[in-house]
Amino acid sequence: MPGATPLSSDLKITAVEAIYLRLPEVKTQCDSGQDALIVQVTTDAGIVGYGEVDSNPMAAKGCIEGPYSHTATTGLAHVLIGEDPFRTEYLWHKMYRANIYAGRRGIGIHAMSGIDLALWDIKGKALGLPVWKLLGGGFTRRLRPYASSLFGATPAETGERARRFADQGFTAVKFGWDPMGQDAETDVALVREARAGLGPDLDLMIDAGLVYDAKTAIQRAKAFEPYHPFWFEEPLLPDDYLGYAKLSASTPLRIAAGEEESERKSFLQLMDVGRIDVVQVDLTRCGGFTEAIKIAALAADRGLPIVNHGFTTYLNVAAALHFLASIPNTLGLLEFVVEEGTTLRQAITEVIRAESGFVAVPEAPGLGIELIPEGIAKFRVG
Ligand SMILES: [Mg+2]
Repeated sequence: MPGATPLSSDLKITAVEAIYLRLPEVKTQCDSGQDALIVQVTTDAGIVGYGEVDSNPMAAKGCIEGPYSHTATTGLAHVLIGEDPFRTEYLWHKMYRANIYAGRRGIGIHAMSGIDLALWDIKGKALGLPVWKLLGGGFTRRLRPYASSLFGATPAETGERARRFADQGFTAVKFGWDPMGQDAETDVALVREARAGLGPDLDLMIDAGLVYDAKTAIQRAKAFEPYHPFWFEEPLLPDDYLGYAKLSASTPLRIAAGEEESERKSFLQLMDVGRIDVVQVDLTRCGGFTEAIKIAALAADRGLPIVNHGFTTYLNVAAALHFLASIPNTLGLLEFVVEEGTTLRQAITEVIRAESGFVAVPEAPGLGIELIPEGIAKFRVG
């Protein structure tokens, strides 16, 4: 790929580091907030940008910090050192080509996502502007958070959780994953109690967590209909595109998916073959801002709305706020983790809060979120 003549005013990347953080005790549960991989990109001007990767952390760290092996398999830091962090489109493609054996989908793209977020953070900090303004956005200055939680261990416990989130002022709540998928009776009871706890007026999202085949999902969608879910998320395995198409054609419920996807061509499969209704984009996996904006445009061309996915740290939330504020096709909704069992996210950055039922899009330069060095040092592994 051709380079360009550097200008004397160009910033230069001097270091790229992947910092692994982990709670002392990690439980066997579907809560990806128990550890975190933070990407730190340093420049010669002293401006430091931060991003995050939600993936297999040490594999993504290897993709970033690993050795130069050959021209199609390279630790990404090698191709970034000395480059101008403002050239995000160019650097995205340079990284993609440099790690193409491992990086066309999955971990390689996840690793690029964290770097891309950090580069946009640097651009914003250097210019004194929030990322949403650099992306040309400003469609909205606030988003309506939906409380995102795992199901309770039982239907009754799920109902209690629902009441608690409603009491906290949330107007939309999602429950997901285990124990959904055990049997029809339990599945319906989980949704029934969630709805009972929320009352009739709040939005309820159901995240099945990849547990069904298409015919079972069609049966469950019909059984859940009386409880008016706003969407039915990831009932099928991510590669079951034909199953998604069958399900989507058979139910009036919105079908949501996308958090497993990385890079826009896999989203095209979900949209064009799977015929999903709501496209869920995780900034820390999909390829960062540079790719997410393209995914949003492809969805807009198909009349499909975008929501974020994020179950990790407030870096991911901040990135989602800038992204969602910069596209025309949001639902105005923000996934907002309320999982009560993990404390890592509150320790490593400032806390993003909902106020009066909404979360404000950051106005400070870059991602607009400060890291807490003591928290990073406390939970850093290695
Ligand atoms: Mg989900």
